[in-house]
Amino acid sequence: MIRNHPSCGGWIEAICGPMFSGKSEELIRRLRRAEIAGQAVMIAKPISDDRYDLSHVVSHSGHRIRAAGIEDPGALAPLAAEYDVLGIDEVQFFPGSVVEVCVALADRGVRVIAAGLDMDYRAEPFGPMPELLARADMVDKLQAVCVRCGGPATLSQRLIDGRPAPWDGETVMVGAHDAYEARCRGCYERGDAAAGVGGRGHPSPAPGPDGR
Ligand SMILES: [Zn+2]
Repeated sequence: MIRNHPSCGGWIEAICGPMFSGKSEELIRRLRRAEIAGQAVMIAKPISDDRYDLSHVVSHSGHRIRAAGIEDPGALAPLAAEYDVLGIDEVQFFPGSVVEVCVALADRGVRVIAAGLDMDYRAEPFGPMPELLARADMVDKLQAVCVRCGGPATLSQRLIDGRPAPWDGETVMVGAHDAYEARCRGCYERGDAAAGVGGRGHPSPAPGPDGR
């Protein structure tokens, strides 16, 4: 991607999209390029994201970069003090206060690159993402490849035992045999309600963290 970055001060770059769209890879690519230019870079990620080992973020293609797991977005500011560029992976799992922290850091001169799922498996905006995307200086919405038709996928399909997950199901089902696929709008299937009357409906206004 070709960007004209500000020549001074900080800014916020947001990288969003569905699962398997290469968000972590894009985040790491940008951080590596800054690192090559002699800038101090690091990645923060929610500590609840246990896909990766504790000291590194690993993209699907296997690249690694230094990372710190944090619980509270308030910890980002002291962490970023020694760095020129702060990457945040899986930013959708942080509470809304993460956006204020990103803005404060950018105002202080830090380049913040935040990557996360823009929508949960219900195709609803995910946690702090709407606010983050609105306040970011630059936004990239990446696409994956739809596993059904091969078209550009913008949604994350959650499957439990091969069927679309109920839209009112638990956000994180411990031990459930669930899986995820990237799907386009036409191939995305909305799950029925798990309990009561089936059919389409609106999820709770504030869906919690989604499993992957
Ligand atoms: Zn499709």
